[in-house]
Amino acid sequence: MREVRIRDTLSDELRALDPASEVGIYACGPTVYSRIHIGNARPFVIFSLLARFLRSEGYRAKLVVNVTDINDKIYDAARGVGEPSAEFADRMTRAYFEDTDRLGLGRPDAEPLATETIDGIVALIGDLVESGHAYESGGDVYFRVRSFDGYGKLSNRRTEDMDQGEEAGSASLKEDPFDFALWKAHKEGEDTSWDSPWGPGRPGWHIECSAMAEAELGPSFAIHGGGSDLVFPHHENEIAQSEAAGRPFAHLWMHNGMIETDAEKMSKSDGNIFQLSEALDLFGPEAVVAYLISGHYRQPLAFGEDQMKQAVAQVERLRNFFRERFLGGWDGNEDEFVTERREKFLDALADDFNTPRAMAEAFELVAEANRRDVLGAPEALREMLKLVGLESLAEVERGGDAEAEALLVEREEARAAKDFARADEIRDMLAELGWEVRDSADGARLVPKA
Ligand SMILES: [Zn+2]
Repeated sequence: MREVRIRDTLSDELRALDPASEVGIYACGPTVYSRIHIGNARPFVIFSLLARFLRSEGYRAKLVVNVTDINDKIYDAARGVGEPSAEFADRMTRAYFEDTDRLGLGRPDAEPLATETIDGIVALIGDLVESGHAYESGGDVYFRVRSFDGYGKLSNRRTEDMDQGEEAGSASLKEDPFDFALWKAHKEGEDTSWDSPWGPGRPGWHIECSAMAEAELGPSFAIHGGGSDLVFPHHENEIAQSEAAGRPFAHLWMHNGMIETDAEKMSKSDGNIFQLSEALDLFGPEAVVAYLISGHYRQPLAFGEDQMKQAVAQVERLRNFFRERFLGGWDGNEDEFVTERREKFLDALADDFNTPRAMAEAFELVAEANRRDVLGAPEALREMLKLVGLESLAEVERGGDAEAEALLVEREEARAAKDFARADEIRDMLAELGWEVRDSADGARLVPKA
């Protein structure tokens, strides 16, 4: 088992994960007010693959990605299309599941919805009111920011620079402009509300995540993740709420950089490839995943047609590698070059999940194996690609191969029995199926005809 280290935003240090306990990962998922875009797909892909890698190393991992299905933006968007907000949010949640299913990475272990966590949310707010960290005002409940000493430690902000970004109307209800809402009283025009000790209303966004994380992972867990745009105020407020309520909360904070688009170029391109479903239609799931792991997760990543074309080319290079090789019949003997590449690939992932460095090792293996016969290269490459969600690239034309492979075996038998007429006949049959037979010291193999 490798020591896996992740850079913690809070301490700005590389922190080793504890192999002895379950690695609980909570990643903030989308607010479902529209179809998700490629920027929302980045944390989904990064945290899904991190959990996959940890398991392959022998860690126990539990990945939780929530759905924020109560939010001002949802009320606004639902009103815009004349649909009840609950129906609209439900429809967008299903679209999010469908879009991310297409990435082929499976689902997180838990995907809690805010609307299904109301009891936990109300209980957590109750604890904060009771301990004096929160107060009711006009049916709203606010968190008393100055009551929590560590406020600002994640985002390194002074309190004076903290604009909670909340609507001006709530200002008069707050004791202090820095306070933020935990519960919002029901307002005219909102078509959903829930009961609470402070009257009907709905939770604020930040408390939803504190409660969902606790419901799925307990009061203390290993990694809290999300986009770097969530550091303030969202994650700063999550820390304040949960820690003020006596929960140790996250051991480390892991933030992915933003996807950056060239707005002018994007507006000129056809359709909206920034939407995940469109990008999947146009480029395929493997290219989308390859693109999203092409930069280190902490760095911003440029997005546009050029970057997607590069990802498509990379994916084709890998697919072609497997098209020319049959997996199976391998005796387990491995070239030293393969062993080295695999070790470095895994080391890169263990070192703050450095996917571009890992992929460079994979491509080095492909280049070498295209130059000479490298024992065990296809098998190792398939194993490596599985860790970054690209294992489907090794499954090229499998269905159609069965017949050709059976014929190849028959040809070998004919040759062994010195029935060369039959062997030639089979070679011609394979040619008609689109395969060229190449004989070498290791035996015959099939290569697609150019
Ligand atoms: Zn969140």
